[in-house]
Amino acid sequence: MPYEPVIGLEIHAQLLTETKIFCGCSTAFGAPPNSHVCPVCLGLPGALPVLNQRAVEHAVRTALALDCTVHEASIFARKNYFYPDLPKGYQISQYEEPLATDGCVEYLDDGVLRRVRIMRVHMEEDAGKSVHDGFPDSGRKTYLDFNRSGVPLVEIVTQPDLRSPSEASRFFQRLRGTLLAAGVNDGNMEEGSLRCDANVSVRPRGTAALGIKVEIKNLNSFRFVERALDYEVRRQSAVLENGGTVLQETRLWDVAGGRTVSMRSKEEAHDYRYFPDPDLPPLVLAPDWIAGVQTALPELPEARKRRFMADHGLPERDAALLADDHELAGFFEETAAAAKNPRSAANWIMGPLAHRKKSDTSRVGREPVTPAALGALIRLVDSGTISNSAARDVFERMAATGESPDAIVEAEGLSQIGDADELQVVVRQTLAQNPAAVTKYRAGKTGTLGFLVGRVMRATDGQANPRLVNELLKSALEASEGE
Ligand code: ADP
Ligand code: ZN
Ligand code: MG
Repeated sequence: MPYEPVIGLEIHAQLLTETKIFCGCSTAFGAPPNSHVCPVCLGLPGALPVLNQRAVEHAVRTALALDCTVHEASIFARKNYFYPDLPKGYQISQYEEPLATDGCVEYLDDGVLRRVRIMRVHMEEDAGKSVHDGFPDSGRKTYLDFNRSGVPLVEIVTQPDLRSPSEASRFFQRLRGTLLAAGVNDGNMEEGSLRCDANVSVRPRGTAALGIKVEIKNLNSFRFVERALDYEVRRQSAVLENGGTVLQETRLWDVAGGRTVSMRSKEEAHDYRYFPDPDLPPLVLAPDWIAGVQTALPELPEARKRRFMADHGLPERDAALLADDHELAGFFEETAAAAKNPRSAANWIMGPLAHRKKSDTSRVGREPVTPAALGALIRLVDSGTISNSAARDVFERMAATGESPDAIVEAEGLSQIGDADELQVVVRQTLAQNPAAVTKYRAGKTGTLGFLVGRVMRATDGQANPRLVNELLKSALEASEGE
């Protein structure tokens, strides 16, 4: 394609707090409409906002996790506009002096080192929700639910450093993993706790000047980010191809139609008449306190991924998949330790375990297979006690019943014959019954070994440990050669 996409994301993440950003109302999702409201979040006259310290702490964590400089003083401003779900007529946000700026996310993406700069991270309150359907008179009326009004958000703004729709989508996944690991957001995109506005322009390949950008609002899945951007890149390229100019505007992703549609012409910052909120003093943070939050940051997915690659020899894709899912990563580490075999632990977790979780959603989060039990199962395979295929059956039964692998192997008689003396007898019999194969082997046609292994396996109903059978046969064939 002669045009290169240029993409920057603005991500809204709900901060994990019990209460709203400027009042004591609950932030719990799914409550009856307008049951978590008070004069402050309804914007009633005279009600005064009081800043939630927990929200500040999570916002600072977010900023530090993204390598930003956190400012010792930041200002809350009023962003003025009319919308029915915004009862005050303005949103409290940070504008000229945001909480943090100049961050950076560096990550390996399929072997390529990428760097996305973060412009700013600021705090703001969420608006309420307009409900356009689900009521008998929804055709004529819009209902308003203010439970979300005043829920604490951080807005994370990247520089236009992303160069393709799939890169943007993968960066967004990385960011989600980081927010989850930092413990600031629940990553739930269906409930709206994490949403993305994508800004995109195109320019002739090889040129440096940025094209005119379009903003696609409120994308709430990785797939939509990629698909909406794909569509928009093609649309804008066609406009330029035909000698036209791209209109600077805000567009929406039409899920059913698989296209973006124009929503409004781009508003400018000055349209909002931002000014410092006179009800809120500047947010002043002590450097020591910021340093304390920094120290308390847990290991983040990129570091964890690289550790999985370096210490456990996992390929990048596997390491990334595990590291981006905070819970799965912990599960993997415990299993790897119990199994003393990280590669195998990763394979079991990304294969059978993930598969099971996907097909049985009722079980998510209360999987009866513990890391210790899965580790024990892997050890049974590694010690040759059971075969790989028997292990799959044992796993299914562990997942269904929560029994230990040892108990299942015992009850089902799945254990391989791993006892050398017992096998030695079968090996001798097999050699005696197949003199032709023995002669051929000794004449240098060692390919007959496979045939003999097969015979022993058959004689033991497949319960012999194939590795041991191999060893015993070889030494028997070679030892008697000189006799
Ligand atoms: P605005 O003034 O329109 O708010 P900003 O400079 O604040 O624009 O950037 C908003 C978002 O748009 C950022 O994520 C930024 O990376 C992105 N962006 C800015 N310019 C462009 C462009 N020409 N093409 C693509 N994305 C852009
Ligand atoms: Zn309230
Ligand atoms: Mg801006």
